[in-house]
Order: sequence, then C-alpha cells, then structure tokens
Amino acid sequence: MSYPYAYEAPVSQTLFDRASAVTPGGVNSPVRAFRAVGGTPRFMVSGTGPYLTDADGREYVDLVCSWGPMILGHAHPEVIAAVQAAVTRGTSFGTPGEGEVELAEEIVARVTPVEQVRLVSSGTEATMSAIRLARGFTGRAKIVKFAGCYHGHVDALLAAAGSGVATFGLPDTPGVTGAQAGDTIVLPYNDLGAVRAAFAAHPGEIACVITEASPGNMGVVPPLEGFNAGLAEICRSDGALYISDEVMTGFRVSKAGWYGIDGVRPDLMTFGKVMGGGFPAAAFGGRADVMGHLAPAGPVYQAGTLSGNPVATAAGLAQLRLLDDAVYETVNAVSAEVSGLVSEALNKEGVAHRLQKAGNMFSVFFTEEAVTNYDEAKRQQAFRFTGFFHAMLAQGVYLPPSAYEAWFVSSAHDARAVERIAAALPGAARAAAEAAE
Ligand code: PLP
Repeated sequence: MSYPYAYEAPVSQTLFDRASAVTPGGVNSPVRAFRAVGGTPRFMVSGTGPYLTDADGREYVDLVCSWGPMILGHAHPEVIAAVQAAVTRGTSFGTPGEGEVELAEEIVARVTPVEQVRLVSSGTEATMSAIRLARGFTGRAKIVKFAGCYHGHVDALLAAAGSGVATFGLPDTPGVTGAQAGDTIVLPYNDLGAVRAAFAAHPGEIACVITEASPGNMGVVPPLEGFNAGLAEICRSDGALYISDEVMTGFRVSKAGWYGIDGVRPDLMTFGKVMGGGFPAAAFGGRADVMGHLAPAGPVYQAGTLSGNPVATAAGLAQLRLLDDAVYETVNAVSAEVSGLVSEALNKEGVAHRLQKAGNMFSVFFTEEAVTNYDEAKRQQAFRFTGFFHAMLAQGVYLPPSAYEAWFVSSAHDARAVERIAAALPGAARAAAEAAE
C-alpha cells in the first residue's frame, strides 16, 4: 500500500533493525511495533508538553500521551523537579517510606470507595492481585470479564481481551492453559442479561466481575446507562465482588476517575498510568474488610521488590497533586475541540464514522452504527484507519497505531498544538475516504 504522505524515517528504521535482532518483534510492548498500520515505528528521544521528537529529529503532536499517563504533557517541570529531588536521595530502599503513605493518602482522599490501597508497579499486577484477593476473600474460583476489555496480560484475563489482543485478532494467546483460563467466564459488554444468566448458571461460584470502568481498549465504548450499577447490584446479591478497573480512566477523566463520573461504588478498584506520573506505579484498593485479607494483615499473598518505589511515588504524587479542577477543565476542553475537528474533517470527506467519548478519552470508529460491545467494534472498516494514521503521522501528529485504542490529550495541548492537528486532518480524512480494503 502506498500512502499519500509516505516518507522515510531512516534513523528509526536502523534502530528498529537493531532492536529486532535482540528483542522479539523489535519492541517491548506489541502495539508499539506498528503491525496494525504498517511502516516504521518511530523511536522517540524526547518529549516536551504536547510534543514528542523522534530519532530522525521530527516533532509530533502526541495524541497517545504514553497511553494515558502524561495528562500534564511531557516533562512537566514540577513532576521532573520532584523526580530529581527523589532520585538524589536514593532510588530504592526495600523498606517502607513516607512517599508511599502520601500517595496512598492522596488516592484514598480522591476516591471514596478506596478505604485502603496497596501499591504495585504495573496495571497488570494491580488486576492480577485484585483477582487473587477476590478469590481469596470469597473462597470462589470463577471470574467474569467482558469481551474487548483489557486488564493487562494476566493469564486468566487474556480471554477475548482488547488492546493489542484486539489489534492482532487473537481470540486467546498460546501459553495460557485451559486451567488458567478455565474459570474465566467471558461475556458480551453492556449486556446485563448475559451477566444475570451467568450468575444463575453458577450460583455462589463467581468470585468477582471485573470490568473496565469505561472501556478504552476496544476503542472507547462507554457503559450504557445503568450497566455498571447493574453489575454492582448483581454482585452484591450473589456475594461476589465488583472490581472496577480504572487503570486507564483513574485520575484521567476526573479527580476520582470514572467513579467521579458515574458514582457506582465498586468493592475493589485498580489504578495505574496517571497515578505513576510516567513511572511504573500502580495500585489496587477498596473496601477495608476485603483489603484486610492481604498479607501481612491477612492470608492472601502479594508482594513486590519495587512496590512503592520512592522515585515512582514521588513522580505520581507530584502529578496527582497538580491535577485540580482547572486541569480537568482544560483537558476536557482540548478533548472536545480535537474530537470535534476530527469529526468535521471526516464529515467533509463523507467518511462514515462514530466518534465515541468517555469523559476526555475518545476514539473514532469507521462505522455508521453506535458501538456498544466488542463484536460491534470489530465490524468497523479498520482499513480506513491505516490511511488516516499514516497521513497524520506524515504531517507530524502521532496517533495510537491501531483502530482499537483510545486517543489521549493533555493539559499541555495548547492552541498551537491543536492548530497543527487541525491542519493535518483534511489530508488524513481524504486518505481515509480513499482507503481500499
Ligand atoms: N487495565 C487497563 C484498563 C489498561 O488499559 C491496562 C493497560 O493498558 C492495564 C490494565 C494494564 O496495565 P499495564 O500495561 O500497566 O500492565
């Protein structure tokens, strides 16, 4: 396929060749390899505010924001200062420290259902640990997840997952055994009838329902009115736990994440991304009586050499403390403006699409129908995204390299950055209109 704006990225290509010799597929997380869209992955060397600069010296307006964390933009001076101050005191002690307490207090203060929280290093660890805790607390084995929801690369949760798994169309992954996934019940998203039927078929056997608070890993597919509340109610009446995965939405879509928008009270919640300020910090938390089952307070084991790392907690804390109402207003306004411009450009070229939003997260589906679940998401004309993506990239706008990912903006996306996006959109919309399967 040729792209209207095709151009070379020789230094990135050389780095990718070197990387491919020593790292499977040349990347450390699959979606970065550009396999869904083709072409040379851009190797980035620096980021400032809304911009990234690649190894070939090209600057891009970044609409990925490290897949969510960089809500204040790249290299925010106060976050960097906090990291620099922390790093000079030492990088890891393997003991408790005050920064961990402060970060936990900040999370507890922001998100009412979180009475206690445990810090970990990745969203995957957070969901894995929350599932183990739910099983340990209830003494039940089965878990319910939804098709198209991604909760990290936890064995039991890699069934009909979104994100990279959606991108590659893998129904499952080799390496996950029947035993590991056998207790996972996968249901269609936004279908309370299916959830009720599963509970009726397995009364007293389901430990938890885990759901993305508002899914962003099959593209942005918000919960229908009453869906999350229905899940909480079904869980409560059966004695199962309701786990809301806020790794993506947490502290991004509001001060209290998606909980701050829909107010549905989960038993457990998981966090990552924004709370780490660009460092590996994540967390799970919730009801104190449930969290009290975790070691050393209780019998459910969970641990981590780098959990609560002082540099990561300093970065996360600095970022969270800067996230006041004004920042969310700015991010919401940028999101409304950019998503509006995308729709306008596609409409001008007559490209059928749906722009779906969850707070300040959004994504574009190349379809006329509203998308409420994973099957519907997969019915879009994803081939149109390829042309669109490359036209944007060639004009200096970095989008997620897959039609099944959320787009992220930051409070640093100022008028100049938005103008650059606006200038790139007409050509990209034309590329989407002209794309052929
Ligand atoms: N849960 C959700 C909703 C996510 O979006 C992700 C990552 O994208 C994860 C969990 C896993 O987080 P991590 O990549 O930090 O392991």
